[in-house]
Amino acid sequence: MVDLATQYKAIKTEVDTAINEVVSNTAFINGPAVKNFQKDLEEYLDVEHVIPCANGTDALQIAMMALGLQPGDEVITASFTYVATAEVIALLQLKPILVDVDPDTFMINIDQVKSAIGPRTKAIVPVHLFGQSAPMQELMEIAKEHNLFVIEDTAQAIGSDYTFSDGSKMKSGTIGHIGATSFFPSKNLGCFGDGGAIFTRDETLAKKIRMIANHGQSVQYYHDEIGVNSRLDSIQAAVLGVKLKKLDDYSNARQNAAQFYDDAFKDIPEIQIPSRVSNSTHVFHQYTLRLKGLNRDLLVSTMKAKGLPVMVYYPVPLHEQKAYQQEGYYPVTEMLCKEVFSLPMHTELDDEQLRFITKTVHETITELSK
Ligand SMILES: *Cc1c(COP(=O)(O)O)cnc(C)c1O
Repeated sequence: MVDLATQYKAIKTEVDTAINEVVSNTAFINGPAVKNFQKDLEEYLDVEHVIPCANGTDALQIAMMALGLQPGDEVITASFTYVATAEVIALLQLKPILVDVDPDTFMINIDQVKSAIGPRTKAIVPVHLFGQSAPMQELMEIAKEHNLFVIEDTAQAIGSDYTFSDGSKMKSGTIGHIGATSFFPSKNLGCFGDGGAIFTRDETLAKKIRMIANHGQSVQYYHDEIGVNSRLDSIQAAVLGVKLKKLDDYSNARQNAAQFYDDAFKDIPEIQIPSRVSNSTHVFHQYTLRLKGLNRDLLVSTMKAKGLPVMVYYPVPLHEQKAYQQEGYYPVTEMLCKEVFSLPMHTELDDEQLRFITKTVHETITELSK
C-alpha cells in the first residue's frame, strides 16, 4: 500500500545527515531539530502556533483537554472514520455523538451535525478523511451559532487547501479552533516512528496545549494542570524537517497517481471513483473506490491472491464497534463499510506499477461480473 523504502532512497543523504546531526549533538528531547521543524511547519501552514507531540491520537486528546470540557459533555464526530477520534472523546469521559457521512465525499454530514446538537454539545470533530477537507465553512458557521469548539482531525489531509466562498484559502487543520495531525510513517507527512502535532491560531489555547503536553507545567516542577507526557523526538523532527520541504511534491505525486486511476476506472460501471470536494484540494492519503453490485470482500481477496495489495478503510462503522456501540440511523456509513476499498497510494508509484494495478482491477471485476 505504501513504499517507504523507495521514498527513503531518494532522500537518504539529506535524512541521514539530519539524523546524524541529532545523534552527534545528543539533544534527543526538545533539541533544535524540534524547534526548527515547529517553525517550518508554522510557516508552511501559515498558522501562529504548532505544538509538536508524540502521535496523532495524543494530539486529539490534548486538544480536547485544552478546551476545559466536563465529563458528560457531548462531542459530535463522524461514524465513518478511524477510531482515534471517538476513543479520546470517550477516554476523557466525554460523550461521542456519532453522525452519518456524505455518500460521495465521505465527510461528516452537515444536516446530521445540526440535528445532533443538543444542550450538552460542546464540540465538533470533523475528520478530513482520505485527504480532502470536511465542509469547514459550514461547520464553522454552525459552531459559531451554537457556541461550539471545532477540532479538525487532519491526520490524513495535511497539505490540502480549503477555499472559502470569498475565495480566501487556508490549509486544512488551521481553520477550526484547534487542528490535530499525525506523523505516523504512512501518513502524507510521515516520520520514522510516531509523531504528531497540534495547531491553533489562539495564543491562550496554544499556551494551555503546550502546558498539558508537558505534564501540565509551564515552569519546571510547578504543575498547574493535569497533563500528559507527549513529545516529538528530535530524531523524528529532523526527518520531518527534510520531508516537509518535499510535501507539496509528494502531494503532486499522489494526485498524479490518482489521475491515472481515475482515467483507468471512470468507465467501469461497477466502480465509483473518488468524488472531489469542490472547495478542497485532495492530497490522496487514500485512493478509495466504491464497488457497486459486486461482493467487495470477494473482490478484495481475489485481488490479494493476484498479488495486489488492497485494503478496506474502514470495514466496521464506529457505532457498531463493541467499545462505541451507539443506537442511531447510519445508512450511509453502513453502506460504505460494505462497498469501499483502497488501492496502493504513495509517492513512488510508477507507470508500470499503476498499469499492473489498474489491469488487475479490470480483470478481477470482469471475472466477478460473469
Ligand atoms: C492516523 C490517524 C489518527 C491517529 O494518529 P496516530 O499517530 O496513529 O495516533 C487519528 N485520526 C485519523 C483520521 C488518522 O488517520
